[in-house]
Amino acid sequence: MTAPRLQIDLNKIYHNAETLVARLSKRGISVTGVTKASMGLPEIANVWLQAGVSGLGDSRIQNLDTLRRASIVAPMVLVRSPMLSQVDQVVALTDVSLNSEVEVIRKLSAAANTINRIHGIVLMVELGDLREGIMPELLEATVAEVLRLPSLVLEGIGTNLACRCGVSPDDRNMAELSSLADSLEATFGISINTVSGGNSANLDWALNCADTGRINNLRLGEALLLGCEPLHRQAIKGLHTDAVTLFAEVIESKEKPSKPWGEIAQSAFGAVPQSNDTGSIKQSILAIGRQDIDPCGLTPPSGIVILGASSDHLVVDSGNYSHQLAVGAEIPFQLNYSALLRAMTSPYVTKDIMRTPMTRHLAENAQSSCA
Ligand SMILES: *Cc1c(COP(=O)(O)O)cnc(C)c1O
Repeated sequence: MTAPRLQIDLNKIYHNAETLVARLSKRGISVTGVTKASMGLPEIANVWLQAGVSGLGDSRIQNLDTLRRASIVAPMVLVRSPMLSQVDQVVALTDVSLNSEVEVIRKLSAAANTINRIHGIVLMVELGDLREGIMPELLEATVAEVLRLPSLVLEGIGTNLACRCGVSPDDRNMAELSSLADSLEATFGISINTVSGGNSANLDWALNCADTGRINNLRLGEALLLGCEPLHRQAIKGLHTDAVTLFAEVIESKEKPSKPWGEIAQSAFGAVPQSNDTGSIKQSILAIGRQDIDPCGLTPPSGIVILGASSDHLVVDSGNYSHQLAVGAEIPFQLNYSALLRAMTSPYVTKDIMRTPMTRHLAENAQSSCA
């Protein structure tokens, strides 16, 4: 076994996806599985499709290309506004993209026209989180433009909350999105097929609100992988929060003073926190660092405390751990979204995909049905 590595349990990932797909489908909401935190790992995408997600989404066209090359057949959505420089790839590789700029939409239309394809447009609406989206009062003008352009179909509208400013999805902003869908239908005599209410942060609202209105799609990544909702980072009942585990290897283990000595200036990553003198401690170094993980996003086993991290070293105090941390030992960590994202995208972290018999069967089915 090589370290560091992410151990990915496909059975648990399947369970999480199947559970959320079933709960949301009772409320008339489909799930787009967002693969960006796994760099478009085909094994995970296949398991999600088996579990019933209606399509796959990613913010990076390279990841959607990875999925296409793995012969995955599913509706694919680019969830970040296309770059003008990428419109040709976007219409070739995806069915739908989320958009908020007319200039980009015009170029998508021209690119789709050139290759004789119809590209779907979901218009993103700004509802307060101040990331992407058209201001609500300007939505009609943009819709009129989309309807006028060749080789495009207005697939629907959507919004994204809780990403930049932590604005929570609630009855008020979700009702506003629903009523925008109604009024566009009335004004233009069209039907708005997709009303995509947001991401994992919408789950609390979607599963507990009295009325989901016109919202009929969510784009989910974090909740499917980590089993928790991002507003308060609480575990979602019935989901696995340990589908992905990180293992790192000990390369030094020594009794050392808890307090540094010498003239203290900055460390490799800026200011150093004051350290208290607690005498000598059991200090270990693991061969993993900021290139691979966000040290603040790791949860070590109980009894181990993370003291600091540089590019390639994670320093821990194992004083209260049940085992001696010998050189060569492997320590498991749970990850939050930030640590997961970085570990998944680090070429130094091996991805160990656990195929238990149930998921091997699923993966084979997925492959044969896509061949
Ligand atoms: C990343 C992203 C998602 C998925 O977010 P999660 O918090 O992982 O569920 C959905 N929509 C957009 C636009 C995104 O960028």
